[in-house]
Amino acid sequence: MKLFGTSGIRTVADRGLLQLALKVGMAVGNIYSRVVVGSDTRTSNDAVKYALISGLLAAGAEAYDGGVMPTPTLALAAREFTAGVMITASHNPPQYNGLKLLNPDGSSFDSPQQQQIEELISSDALACAPWDKMAGYCVYSGAVTKHIERIREDFPERLKFKAVVDCGCAAASLVTPELLGRLGGEVISLNCTPSGCFPHPIEPIEANLGELMQATKDSGADIGIAHDGDADRMMAIDERGRFIPGDKLLAILAQEAEGGRVVTTIDASMAIDEMGFEVVRTRIGDTWVSTELKRGGRFGGEPSGSWIFPAISLCPDGIYAAAKLAAIASRQKISELVDRIPAYPVIRGATSSEGVVMAQLKQRLIALEPVSVSSFDGLNLSFADGQLLVRASGTEPKIRVRAEAKNKARARQLYEAGIEAIKECSKGRRVEVS
Ligand code: MG
Repeated sequence: MKLFGTSGIRTVADRGLLQLALKVGMAVGNIYSRVVVGSDTRTSNDAVKYALISGLLAAGAEAYDGGVMPTPTLALAAREFTAGVMITASHNPPQYNGLKLLNPDGSSFDSPQQQQIEELISSDALACAPWDKMAGYCVYSGAVTKHIERIREDFPERLKFKAVVDCGCAAASLVTPELLGRLGGEVISLNCTPSGCFPHPIEPIEANLGELMQATKDSGADIGIAHDGDADRMMAIDERGRFIPGDKLLAILAQEAEGGRVVTTIDASMAIDEMGFEVVRTRIGDTWVSTELKRGGRFGGEPSGSWIFPAISLCPDGIYAAAKLAAIASRQKISELVDRIPAYPVIRGATSSEGVVMAQLKQRLIALEPVSVSSFDGLNLSFADGQLLVRASGTEPKIRVRAEAKNKARARQLYEAGIEAIKECSKGRRVEVS
């Protein structure tokens, strides 16, 4: 049984999810004694949450209902407990929901922890507590206030900026506008009614943020801020109304963290390598970034918008990231910073993985004479003027190819070399490029 994906459990909110929530509650309650629960704004949240809490209580654990909050807010609250459970489907559509399990340090449950929960559920070994060990659930209030106050500690001086904030009627609605206002900003709220009925798809990508880009430009704001459903992600707009690509935001936030060790994923642009940081790359997924940050570093993140500041927690914190960007915007024009960071051409594609022998493919790619090769997540080849990432898809029978270089022609050349190598290793089968 494989319940957990890279970001916990996510599915359409149906009877199956409710039944699973009860079992996950019992499994977590069998291992952890005091558990805090939070949820984003989805309409199915209460149904899922009380199924989960029912399981926790049946197992004899203490269960605390923290109400609606972003995932990083729950991560901070989890410090006072032995575990935290977030009811959210992150950036998925409103009919989805899911469960994300957190440790007291804010990190997501790792593979052995997830496996322990899965084994308890699949072996039907979920123990119900005796009657005198069961109790009612408690309300845990004040998580949002504590998160806001904790972030304010890091920004003691009053900031001067104007921001448009689009929370998509999701979990940040009650947090980011309030925080930015308290930091000194003039805030225009867009879609900040926490209804769970998202007015646009809740993934913070350029295609979904037209209203925010327009409003940021028209209102003369210094920045526009957007989050995903549970606000562990933050993406932004500059004062010219332009969406800031994730790779540039990574570089801007890394600069603000004042250098040192920066942890990012294997698919981040090589631009970050040229900025004077000690860059450490991990597999794709914020769990890997936070695991690496335990070994050191003040900042890490993924270009998809997950930014981790270990000083506050090991959970990606889109709210804290919004405050960081506001602090930068109160000193200088964000567009100038954006334009100073190089943007290199990237070509992405995927081909069928049918018949491909990875060991052969590695040999074939090494023949391209890269400066270095890493193979902890697919094959990543670095060249003096570019990089080529070839990795098997986790969800489809495909091999994904990402080529980046200082100019388009070289990126195309690397991409085609990658595709050619896969063709040669697929035992003569025709490879469709999509
Ligand atoms: Mg999320």
